[in-house]
Amino acid sequence: MINLYKDTPLQILIIEDNKDHAFLTSKTFQKAFPLSKISIAETAREAYEKLSPPPDIIVSDYNLPDEDGLAILQNVKSRGFDIPFVIMTGAGDEKLAVEALQAGAYNYLVKDEAYLSALPKVIREALDKYRFQKEKEALEQEVREKNTALERANQELRKLDQLKSEFIAAVSHEFRTPLNSIKESIALLAEGVVKIGEEQGNRVFEIAANNVNRLALLIDDLLDFSKLEAGRMRLEKQPQDLSEIIAEVVDSMKGIAEKTKQIRLVWVGGGDHPQVFADKSRIVQVLMNLVDNAIKFTPPGGRVTITSEVNGDAQAVVAVEDTGIGIGKEDLGRIFKKFEQVRTRQPGTEVRGTGLGLAISKQIVELHEGHLRVESELNRGSRFIFTLPVYGEAAKPQAKLSTHTQGGKNAT
Ligand code: ADP
Repeated sequence: MINLYKDTPLQILIIEDNKDHAFLTSKTFQKAFPLSKISIAETAREAYEKLSPPPDIIVSDYNLPDEDGLAILQNVKSRGFDIPFVIMTGAGDEKLAVEALQAGAYNYLVKDEAYLSALPKVIREALDKYRFQKEKEALEQEVREKNTALERANQELRKLDQLKSEFIAAVSHEFRTPLNSIKESIALLAEGVVKIGEEQGNRVFEIAANNVNRLALLIDDLLDFSKLEAGRMRLEKQPQDLSEIIAEVVDSMKGIAEKTKQIRLVWVGGGDHPQVFADKSRIVQVLMNLVDNAIKFTPPGGRVTITSEVNGDAQAVVAVEDTGIGIGKEDLGRIFKKFEQVRTRQPGTEVRGTGLGLAISKQIVELHEGHLRVESELNRGSRFIFTLPVYGEAAKPQAKLSTHTQGGKNAT
């Protein structure tokens, strides 16, 4: 048998009250394991004192003055030590050896006339058994951890699957509503119930046109989402004046906010106009989405405020703040996840959507090396903040972006 442990500096503890036996045993070990360090305990009490640092293996006689070998084995274990233990019994005491194996001893040796020559092999077997046992335990632990990770991944997939089903239902609903309006409008016009050129007919035509736009936007969202998912969204980044972007969004949303919900859309800004390196249409899209949400989730008569500034890290910071329904703490973490919508139960706040807008906006901002985050409190309103790195030389820490305010009268 190859002596695998020949070059291992083993720490061996011998528990043996017979001095001659202890001496011979230690000499046998030294010959078989030349690098080993051997200590001898004559009693159980002495052995416990020699457990720190823990030896690599314990070889114990069965009959000792204060405790028997089986009790020592149990005490060593109950003290939290996991050390290979070999028990030596007298000839005719094999029954005790079996008991010791059942109690967790790694091997045993009957002290007959040839026991010293058998000792190294018994020790090697015990050490092998211990090593295999540890490897087996490590493998079992690994399998347990992998199973847990797999179970977690499965749960995640099941949840995603469920969200996708809900998403398809929501999208179908989102499509059906404007489609029905378009169908109704066409029927009214086709049957001559109303006529284009007359007031009611023009109104019906406008409703149809608005719904066609709504459908187109919805399809855009879906296409953007699939492009982002596949990592295929191409950005055409150029130095852009952020103030112009904000102005464009405020211009296009202000009228509708006032007309449909009597919500004042205000842009608070001032100072220089540093440029950002961005794809203008995508940043317009992000800002539109945030303002659109702010209007959607703010009751009539409320206020939506846009602020813009440059912080000390040369980041343009744009915030969209509303006085709306807010978002509960428990929901803050998930609104940026795809398909996620927070169901609001408050009367008059039932708003439908795809739950994709924020997930798309966040990814677009991140593709610009910026961040999008939210601060919100239920019934107190929300504040969505995104950053974009300022372009090149234009970075001026603490400078405000613009003094420009939309239409003058609503600016504060
Ligand atoms: P959608 O608007 O299509 O539902 P979004 O991804 O834009 O999808 O928004 C996800 C959810 O985040 C919304 O359904 C809403 O519950 C919540 N949310 C977004 N913006 C606001 C806001 N300004 N105030 C309150 N809740 C908001």
